[in-house]
Amino acid sequence: MRQQNLLMPTLREVPSDAEAVSHRLMLRAGLIRPLATGVYTYLPLGRRALRKAEAIVREEMDRIGAQEVLLPAMQPAELWRESGRYDVYGPELVRLRDRHDREFALGPTHEEVVTALVRDEISSYRKLPLTVYQIQTKFRDERRPRYGLLRGREFLMKDAYSFDTDWEGLDATYRAMYEAYHRIFTRCGLNYRAVEADAGAIGGEGETHEFMALAEIGEDTVVACDGCGYAANLEKAEAAAVQAAAVEEAAPPLERWHTPDIRTIAQLTELLGPEASRLMKTLLYVADGKPVAVVVRGADEVNELKVQRALGTDRLELADAETVQTVTGAPVGFAGPVGLNVPLLVDREVAALSEGIAGANERDYHYRHVRPGRDFSLAHTGDFREVRLGDRCVRCGEPLTLHRGIEVGHVFKLGTKYSTALGARVTGVSGTEQDVIMGCYGIGVSRLLSAVLEQHHDEQGIVWPLSLAPFHAHIIPVAVADDTQRKLAEELYERLQSLGVEALLDDREERPGVKFKDADLIGFPVRIVVGKKAGERVVEYKERQAPEAEQLTVEEAVRRLL
Ligand code: ATP
Ligand code: MG
Ligand code: MG
Ligand code: MG
Repeated sequence: MRQQNLLMPTLREVPSDAEAVSHRLMLRAGLIRPLATGVYTYLPLGRRALRKAEAIVREEMDRIGAQEVLLPAMQPAELWRESGRYDVYGPELVRLRDRHDREFALGPTHEEVVTALVRDEISSYRKLPLTVYQIQTKFRDERRPRYGLLRGREFLMKDAYSFDTDWEGLDATYRAMYEAYHRIFTRCGLNYRAVEADAGAIGGEGETHEFMALAEIGEDTVVACDGCGYAANLEKAEAAAVQAAAVEEAAPPLERWHTPDIRTIAQLTELLGPEASRLMKTLLYVADGKPVAVVVRGADEVNELKVQRALGTDRLELADAETVQTVTGAPVGFAGPVGLNVPLLVDREVAALSEGIAGANERDYHYRHVRPGRDFSLAHTGDFREVRLGDRCVRCGEPLTLHRGIEVGHVFKLGTKYSTALGARVTGVSGTEQDVIMGCYGIGVSRLLSAVLEQHHDEQGIVWPLSLAPFHAHIIPVAVADDTQRKLAEELYERLQSLGVEALLDDREERPGVKFKDADLIGFPVRIVVGKKAGERVVEYKERQAPEAEQLTVEEAVRRLL
């Protein structure tokens, strides 16, 4: 692309009514222009970046087997009445009437439309599981549209919907989606956290997570624990804390319990009953053959991650109860081999179930009425450390930290809320009919761009991550009037084009200062200046955030870019 004719109206002045950095940058770099409050035009650079984000989302959706569709934005009100949402959605729903006075809504989300589709097209469990997605403009008449693309009234969303025959199926779909979201946001260069969210607001009991880009401008609060990796949005964390406090209040105090007869896990299991034995496991983690942590609970990855984070190691291996005995030569207690000097993590659920019994790291003793958080946290020294609950993690008792966050994605186990309401049923294996079990999964694709810019900029302007940059390289001949410079710049431009490197050639007859300022503002990853040394085929190669430019031959510059 040549800059002379590119519709990229950059602004020197900082727009006075734009509060958010990303909003200011998008206006100044000529990515977007407002048409009405919360309604924007995407100019070529903005559109290109948006397409990059879309492409990443598409790739990761396709990779987990989700199928792309495009559902109508214009939706009959009857459908929304069927689900019961027409009247409760409120003024955020954009409503309109056609020439026959029939009522319609402009889709703020598509559960109704997609559930009706599945109701009409799928009747057998053999066609499930199914996940469909779309990348489409959504309409929400937000009470406070602001911060540019961060909260628009017309915005681009990727929304996916899954249909399964049982909850185990939904669990697997949800997990695949959750992991795809991690890949998407990582590829976009985002600093983000996946947080537990409160299902209550959307109506349901189902598990739900929000993906929060960390940024001061964010309207959400992320409550995070660096100890065990627990993270929740404020609403969920508060609910959990209230619940924990109530339980804490009613809980009996920690008690050192003399247990000379209990020597093995089997004995404990017997004592605690069959329900406990289903959950109970003592996991010993070893790194380089040395025991590093003991965890009570099933052998799931989550535990492993927790331990990994807590101990800052990535060479974990899991030892089973027998190995524990072999490695340590110590008899095994419920929550830890006796006398083994390693950190102990006690799982809440197990503690509750087993009336809080934990190994005491001491022969012939266990602890009773253990409340993780209240009594124990990660004990990095190997000895138990007693901590009191306060602004502390409900899981492990470590101090919590608060961050501001932008909700860029949301995954949600819907269950049968919409399938029941709209009658989306399939015949199951046994021939009986059942409501399909759904999940829904959104990403604010346009909001994502804003979130990325909130994190990737400096004084001069945008610092695009390579994956989203509208162009990879910016070629700037200092003096276009100079034949040698112009020709070398053109040659470089053609070469890069043919090699598939997206390049923008600044062929404008502007002062170098103006060109450089624009280049920094629009912030492509690499800038190549063709100046006085053009005769020797030498150019200045500079990465956007590198302090200095390097002198390279054209050939070297091209090679760097591949
Ligand atoms: P918020 O809490 O910010 O209002 P939401 O919870 O209402 O968002 P969802 O219904 O979960 O949003 O929609 C899925 C995704 O769409 C959100 O995670 C967010 O990234 C994006 N999104 C929602 N509302 C807007 C908006 N007004 N402008 C841009 N993106 C939005
Ligand atoms: Mg909202
Ligand atoms: Mg929300
Ligand atoms: Mg949400």
